[in-house]
Amino acid sequence: MTTSVNSAVLPVYNRANVGFVRGVGSRAFTEDGTAYLDFGSGVAVNALGHAHPHLVAALTEQAQKIWHTSNVYQMPGQEKLAKTLTEHSFADKVFFCNSGAEAMELTIKMARKFYAAQGQPEKYHIITFEGAFHGRTIATLAAGGQEKYLEGFGPKAPGFDQVAFGDHAALEAAIGPQTAAILIEPIQGEGGIRPVPHQCLRGLRALCDKHGLLLLFDEIQCGVGRTGKLFAHEWAGVTPDIMAVAKGIGGGFPLGAVLATEQAASGMIATTHGSTFGGNPLATAVGSAVLEVVLGDGFLDNVQRQAIHLKQKLERLKDTHPTIIESVRGEGLMMGLKTKVVNADFVKAALAEHLLVLGAGDNVVRLLPPLIVTDDDINEAVQKLEATCVALEKKN
Ligand SMILES: *Cc1c(COP(=O)(O)O)cnc(C)c1O
Repeated sequence: MTTSVNSAVLPVYNRANVGFVRGVGSRAFTEDGTAYLDFGSGVAVNALGHAHPHLVAALTEQAQKIWHTSNVYQMPGQEKLAKTLTEHSFADKVFFCNSGAEAMELTIKMARKFYAAQGQPEKYHIITFEGAFHGRTIATLAAGGQEKYLEGFGPKAPGFDQVAFGDHAALEAAIGPQTAAILIEPIQGEGGIRPVPHQCLRGLRALCDKHGLLLLFDEIQCGVGRTGKLFAHEWAGVTPDIMAVAKGIGGGFPLGAVLATEQAASGMIATTHGSTFGGNPLATAVGSAVLEVVLGDGFLDNVQRQAIHLKQKLERLKDTHPTIIESVRGEGLMMGLKTKVVNADFVKAALAEHLLVLGAGDNVVRLLPPLIVTDDDINEAVQKLEATCVALEKKN
């Protein structure tokens, strides 16, 4: 591995001293053939694991036809994927982009435009929550509101009002004549796998309806089957007006999407937004292939089954290693271990056991296995977590 000292790459990442050249299913392999069990999935991106045959076939088949045209022409791949998404969600309209931050940018723009188009341009404020993460562009950093990411990048973009996670009084108090929308991740990812209780999501919907606000969900990390339903908010029985999706929807190919109701999207007429690469034929071919698998017979049932299996084993792990693990949280295959040791030390110790897991806020270790994870994969991962705990206990 190149060290940052000799690297020509901008040193913005704290990279682990390991790299992968090949992957199959739940496993990634280094140059010398060492296998690692991948319970990070490239941060919930490799929803179907590595080199899924259906995705490889879709990508190579499309690669031989046409890669890129332009959004100035008809886009049959977008039509197909948008139809699937609208048939399986609250949405009537879909826009395609290349990443999560871009999906969030349009989510924000669409909410603002909705009111501007109705003659209320002063209604552009969006209420967000502490610990949120919505991306790293100038606007999405302001939406996330985390000082450590905003520092040194000039004035914070205006129009975002942040309230504490779970503080209902503060939320009500933050709503004013300038408020356009409330934005939330149904399960905070980077913030430390913090699920929003279902009754709170329902409460947010009611609050938005009462005050005439739009409800915006960021399902970039928790969407596309991660919780055992296509979208996490389905568990709560409420729907947003606009939703950002990315990560898993491309299965490893860069793809983002914004889903919206006809009404919420009504301000976005021709020339109000666009993207050069967004939804190109390669990306949408892979996106459609991902959904063919995720929406296939029994697939999400199996995600739910594996999720219960994983959760039970993690609870047992916590009980047997109380000095290492404080609590287990999360939903579906989006699980967090709040650790009593420094989470980065846990991630490093797991890497030594050839298990890939991720850190997150609030001193949490994130487990985001691919949705194709098997009983054996989970048993093996828990054995490795067990060994990780034992190694850390010896150190402390
Ligand atoms: C990853 C993530 C983003 C940003 O996505 P990028 O593709 O990195 O721009 C935004 N919101 C959430 C919830 C995420 O997990």
